[in-house]
Amino acid sequence: MKRLKRRSPSGDTRIIYRRRKKHIAHCMICGRPLAGVPRNKKDLRKGPKTAKRPERYFGGVICPDCLRTALKIAARASL
Ligand SMILES: [Zn+2]
Repeated sequence: MKRLKRRSPSGDTRIIYRRRKKHIAHCMICGRPLAGVPRNKKDLRKGPKTAKRPERYFGGVICPDCLRTALKIAARASL
């Protein structure tokens, strides 16, 4: 729980407790936050798999920019 100091109407400061924000998925290579991946576990548990991460190679693991460079490196290495 997150502790916040808030002033009450009577004038004294009290500590209030708030739930922390859910962790967001980040790119494995560059660390940029990923889009299209739900924050909470409840949304990850239910619903179709297509709604849980992008339909792409390494979707939900690495960002599209890193995937593009990785595919370029792989293609050039295979020649
Ligand atoms: Zn990345």
